[in-house]
Amino acid sequence: MFVSDSLNVNELGHLTIGGADTVEIAEKYGTPVIVYSEDGIRRNCRAFVNSIDKYYNGNGRVLYAGKAFSCLEMCRIMNEEKMGLDVVSGGELYTAVKAGFPTDRIYFHGNNKTYNELKMALEYGVGRIIVDNPDELATLSALAKEMGKTANIYMRIKPGIDAHTHSFIMTGQIDSKFGFALETGEAMECVKLCAETENVNLVGLHCHIGSQIFDVDPFVHAAEVMMKLIADVKAETGIVISELDLGGGFGIKYVDSDKPVEFDAYMKPVSEQVKASAEKYGIDVPFILIEPGRSIAGAEAVTLYTVGNVKKIPDIRTYVAIDGGMCDNPRYILYQSDYTVMCASRANENKDAVVTVAGKCCESGDLIQENAPVQKVEKGDILAVLTTGAYNYSMSSNYNRIPRPEVLMVKDGQVRTIIKRETYEDIIKNDM
Ligand SMILES: *Cc1c(COP(=O)(O)O)cnc(C)c1O
Repeated sequence: MFVSDSLNVNELGHLTIGGADTVEIAEKYGTPVIVYSEDGIRRNCRAFVNSIDKYYNGNGRVLYAGKAFSCLEMCRIMNEEKMGLDVVSGGELYTAVKAGFPTDRIYFHGNNKTYNELKMALEYGVGRIIVDNPDELATLSALAKEMGKTANIYMRIKPGIDAHTHSFIMTGQIDSKFGFALETGEAMECVKLCAETENVNLVGLHCHIGSQIFDVDPFVHAAEVMMKLIADVKAETGIVISELDLGGGFGIKYVDSDKPVEFDAYMKPVSEQVKASAEKYGIDVPFILIEPGRSIAGAEAVTLYTVGNVKKIPDIRTYVAIDGGMCDNPRYILYQSDYTVMCASRANENKDAVVTVAGKCCESGDLIQENAPVQKVEKGDILAVLTTGAYNYSMSSNYNRIPRPEVLMVKDGQVRTIIKRETYEDIIKNDM
């Protein structure tokens, strides 16, 4: 019935997260509100960290892809869990630094880092900068020289793998805005360019084949392709690549038909492939990194809304309107993402109704889910949308000048605010 171990139903028939009653939370904190289970987040971190320990003898690191959901408290938790952090912008980097996250465990990605972002990365001394293109390499080199620093870099590679996911979240194929192509020789050319470039030190290669991937095969395939590249680089240039970042993209459960595999089910075959390739090509097993985002945070949050009007259009459908929408969760309008929806106060009852959950924004496409099975819902009920921990708040906006929701964290049944609800005052604070 549930997408995460963090969820349950109590004796009142109310949905709980991390042991806290969602109906009570909605009453006390108001809606819309996003509620995370801290135990759930930590459990996911530990599962990945243990996997790295187990399959690579600890010779690796798990990076949390902060773009899934970043804030000061999230960075603090990631630090406590001994995770590294993957950032893709100055804002994500700034958040991590302000949270006291050790900068040597920060990895800076992005296909178009600005001059100022690169400068900021060098000033803060981030651990690795993942270079996306030759132009960026030149800018970084010049900047580092000016600042009297040397940047440890990775190159982002498009390994040319079809990961069977939505085309907007597929990133490993040749027609992608991210990174260097393998097939065309572009990647090898840039390796040679790196060797001649001052103030940069090429230590690793990186790939990320997409997101919400359930198949294990594409990950195994990517590992082989990347290991072969490391071997080719060594043979052609003598450069030893000692770190390999295999990216994130592990699928999670949004609806019953999603069948995610245990993290170990990725880690084991991928590690076996890495070791087999190392043997085959006569190279050392590199320091391995993985970058889960969605699979750390996604299933560990629910969004609670209050139901407003219910519009029954005979023979067509029933719209259940909520007090949020694409402003706090744009994933349906972006990629028709699946979600499980439930009435928080009737979580034990059968889902006899089929409704379309509509947001309050002025867009017909502003829906959270179409034709979703749900328990009886009426005006004033609390509607819970599950699995909203990744790419929801982080993709939220003030469209229609709607303030962003509050974000809560539950630990041992205790609820605390980790991001305050925006006010109308916040909405106009930068207006002149
Ligand atoms: C988005 C992204 C991730 C995380 O992807 P998930 O699907 O959330 O696990 C990891 N690495 C890079 C480079 C990314 O762009």
